Amino acid sequence: MESVYNLKNQNSNLDYKIVAGLDRISQVFKTLLLDKSKSYNLSPIQIQVLIFIAYHSIEKTTVSYLSNEFNLTKPTISDTIKTLEQKKYIKKHIDQKDTRSYTIELTESGKQIVLETENFVNPLTEIISNTDQNDKLVLWQNITTIIQQLNELKIISIQRTCVKCKFYSENNKESFCSLLNQNLKNDNIRIDCEEFEIKK
Ligand code: SF4
Repeated sequence: MESVYNLKNQNSNLDYKIVAGLDRISQVFKTLLLDKSKSYNLSPIQIQVLIFIAYHSIEKTTVSYLSNEFNLTKPTISDTIKTLEQKKYIKKHIDQKDTRSYTIELTESGKQIVLETENFVNPLTEIISNTDQNDKLVLWQNITTIIQQLNELKIISIQRTCVKCKFYSENNKESFCSLLNQNLKNDNIRIDCEEFEIKK
């Protein structure tokens, strides 16, 4: 396959331009997060772990879950947790049955750091908020489809999304959630649902 980064290829091919554009947008997330992390003397992954813990249930805060979530090795996640514990942003709850295992909870100062750092995405949120509703729906449909295909290729390892959920079904191209007991329109599809349970 030709290189997307070769400008002759890129500028004569819409597919390549879209991929290059997605690359540019992913860089923006990294840059915004990095700027924020410098101001708080934290690394980007330390901030990401704090934000994840703030909004997910306690059983998703183990080293193995976090290493899958962030596609990082267990030692890297363990080091991240050790630093956050030293900074007193988290506390560990040791599993009584297996003292090598633990879950993590935010301390009050950890919660404060989340409040002060999670807004690093605001410039993008503002752009999306000002976009036409129909364009947003098309964009959302495309994003969910791309995520689903990346998961099928095993590039995105974890998904708490409707199509992988045991409560999800499709009938005549209508999506339905049996837990919420409602049809799911395009904008009801979730990519990170608290009630998600994997389809067996
Ligand atoms: S429980 Fe959540 S993830 Fe599962 S189908 Fe319903 S809305 Fe989607």
